[in-house]
Amino acid sequence: MLRPLISLLSPRGPRARLSILIFHRAPRVADPLFPAELDAAGFDRVLGWIGRWFKVLPLDAAVQALDRGELPARALAITFDDGYADNHDVAMPLLRKHGMSATFFIATDFLDGGRMWNDTVVEAVRATRLDAVDLAPLGVCGLGRLELRTVPDRRAALGTLLPRFKYLAHPQRQAVVEHFARLLQVDRLPDDLMMSSAQVVALRRYGMQIGAHTGSHPILALSTPEQARDEIVRSRDKLQALLQEPVGMFAYPNGKPGRDFHRGTVDLVRQLGFALAVTTSPGVTRMGTDRWQLPRFTPWDRTPVRFGARLARNLQREPALLG
Ligand SMILES: [Zn+2]
Repeated sequence: MLRPLISLLSPRGPRARLSILIFHRAPRVADPLFPAELDAAGFDRVLGWIGRWFKVLPLDAAVQALDRGELPARALAITFDDGYADNHDVAMPLLRKHGMSATFFIATDFLDGGRMWNDTVVEAVRATRLDAVDLAPLGVCGLGRLELRTVPDRRAALGTLLPRFKYLAHPQRQAVVEHFARLLQVDRLPDDLMMSSAQVVALRRYGMQIGAHTGSHPILALSTPEQARDEIVRSRDKLQALLQEPVGMFAYPNGKPGRDFHRGTVDLVRQLGFALAVTTSPGVTRMGTDRWQLPRFTPWDRTPVRFGARLARNLQREPALLG
């Protein structure tokens, strides 16, 4: 019932529309701190639905076909951001089982034992034995006593803290999250959350695509032009050296146009020679969509009808991109 609707909304040729899905983590079992995230069984189910309704293509090939007016009907590309090890361990085998490929955007500074700032916060909240903590010593406006006794307390704590820390200036943010882990009296945090260089090479060898996602995952809109250029080039150079081939795709960290990157960032990415770049703005890609601001979207529903209906609605949505 959904496939004819999607065929109607996503025809082939010059009027074609490309859906691009975005994922981050692919945990094997559900994480009680993030119950809305798909576990392996859930991801398997979602890939099954997508395979019935859509034709899954590699992102670069799909965009090239769209430019030529030759994109097939019901075209969809799958992407993952950041470079989590579960992308290699859990997502890749499931993608291969369904005969699909995906593009993985890697924040390269965290390869081989690194940890993103948000995971320092998450893992400290997960590991702490404290029932509550006073965050006044962090000096972050509005943060005081935090309850940590139950799992719902900890989920609520992360819901408060992650958005508050996200837009702190880059060096300050790192210092604040390290201070936070000390306040929670957690001194051992995992160093195996992100992929190794060898796992990135393995993804590529198994037919997946690799794209750049900066070195340290800064908010590029808050970076100087020199810092932004260094972050983008550093991640591309690292991946090109690993893979021994050009890397022509880029994903903006956090990815909201105007808030996380601005017009100058888009121009920079284009001038650096990337063939395309992806955002986290929802909507669908058509022939005239800015190649350096491609929209992405993933429904959060857990039933096929709702999931498919939301994808169908996204096929009718114009992305809000920078002019
Ligand atoms: Zn990211």
